[in-house]
Amino acid sequence: MNSSRLAHLRDSVAHVLADATRVTTGDSERELHSADVSFHRPRLPDLVVYPTSTGEVSAVLEIATAERVPVTAFGAGSSLEGNAIPIAGGISLDLTRMDRIVSLSPDDLTAVVQPGVTRTALSRAAGDHGLFFPVDPGADATLGGMAATNAAGTTTVRYGKMRANVLALEAVLADGTVVRTGSRAPKTSAGYDLTGLLVGSEGTLAVITELTLRLHGIPEHIAAARIAFPSLEAACRTAAASVAAGTTLMRLELVDAHTIRAVNAYEESDYPEAPSLFVEAGGAEAAVESDLELVLSIAREEGALDAVHERDADARARLWKARHDVAYATSAASPGRRHRSTDVCVPVSQLAEAVAVTRAEIERSGLVAGVIAHAGDGNVHVGLMIDPEDARELEAAERLADALVADALARGGTSTGEHGVGLGKISALEREHGDLLPLLRGIKELFDPHGILNPGKVLR
Ligand SMILES: Cc1cc2nc3c(=O)[nH]c(=O)nc-3n(C[C@H](O)[C@H](O)[C@H](O)COP(=O)(O)OP(=O)(O)OC[C@H]3O[C@@H](n4cnc5c(N)ncnc54)[C@H](O)[C@@H]3O)c2cc1C
Repeated sequence: MNSSRLAHLRDSVAHVLADATRVTTGDSERELHSADVSFHRPRLPDLVVYPTSTGEVSAVLEIATAERVPVTAFGAGSSLEGNAIPIAGGISLDLTRMDRIVSLSPDDLTAVVQPGVTRTALSRAAGDHGLFFPVDPGADATLGGMAATNAAGTTTVRYGKMRANVLALEAVLADGTVVRTGSRAPKTSAGYDLTGLLVGSEGTLAVITELTLRLHGIPEHIAAARIAFPSLEAACRTAAASVAAGTTLMRLELVDAHTIRAVNAYEESDYPEAPSLFVEAGGAEAAVESDLELVLSIAREEGALDAVHERDADARARLWKARHDVAYATSAASPGRRHRSTDVCVPVSQLAEAVAVTRAEIERSGLVAGVIAHAGDGNVHVGLMIDPEDARELEAAERLADALVADALARGGTSTGEHGVGLGKISALEREHGDLLPLLRGIKELFDPHGILNPGKVLR
């Protein structure tokens, strides 16, 4: 953008903000908004805007549409597919200063929040009422960003993804119009599900300015276990059988031996360096203990090598530390490299074979990487860290990701279980849903006729 156009845009935006210092063209702010945590090439926005109200978001979008300036919403910047990178420049619209919990309604098990509230901030506030917000992607992401990517994580096996936990939205369309979808009622059949459509739309259809979310009761009794197995397949078969047996587990996570080794190096710990399941059950004590015993007995039949189980909150936290440290341990083992995570998801009955193919494809690629899975949902990640400047590595990683997507689709699965399409999965989406592209493009055109909202993401 040339300097006179930029100065004009900055002045126009400053004029509609209550505080003109909340628009900046400063280098450090632009740099902070040029990347997410992935390997995708950063791109500086021309300016960064920090709205503090829906009215300001609306006014900024009205200007952006009039001036045909791209706008990319930005939360915590923790996405993994280049989702928040402003690849066409323009405005990075940072929603983190809209961070108010508007209301908590324990009687309705709901909360109304602004988009910049983080998941841990909401769970802390809900905890005062014996409630919590379950969706846990590991990173302390914003609820706006989590809704925009339809995030999931370790508790999806019991509580579902963001879409299952968003009842209503307030959102601003590209031209500045404010809309409200859904309602505070637990369910609705009122017309097309626009709440469900905006959840997962990655900021390409509208900017989310308020969310009505479901809360859940903190279970009265929780038990957790870490179980080591002789093989990845044995661990996966245990996970699939536990789901099929109808257990109501809250978490069912798989970490391979390669990754446990990285965790041991990072934590200076001595967890058994074997494929491991991390399991958590919550609810009434008798049901929890019987679910856990069922999982342990399936694990024993699969030749489990070692099992540790805990009830006390601190002991459970220590047990889970190995799983929670996976991302930090993986990063620490690869200084200077960036995340190039894969994200296929398959029917849980296919998990063991999909994971075996994943390990074989990693070996074939010559790359060094571990396998982590939200096993209860059949969602498999290769925890790959790459040097984005190394063309050979980039190509090998691309080939690996392609092979895993092909395998997942052949098993009736999907190319992305939770990270979204962003920049990295556009080809995979075309492969997965080629016949739907005209419909997807039509929706984009209807919501954003001038293509200003997060251009170049999801659809080419
Ligand atoms: C260590 C680590 C582990 C992770 N594990 C998981 C996991 O298990 N499961 C999982 O699902 N994800 C995981 N992620 C990815 C990431 O945390 C999620 O994608 C998260 O939902 C992104 O939220 P954010 O606030 O960081 O959004 P950002 O990265 O800032 O933005 C993500 C997308 O949402 C859009 N957006 C942001 N705010 C809004 C808004 N208010 N309105 C409209 N669009 C908006 C952006 O334009 C962008 O397209 C992990 C990330 C890390 C770093």
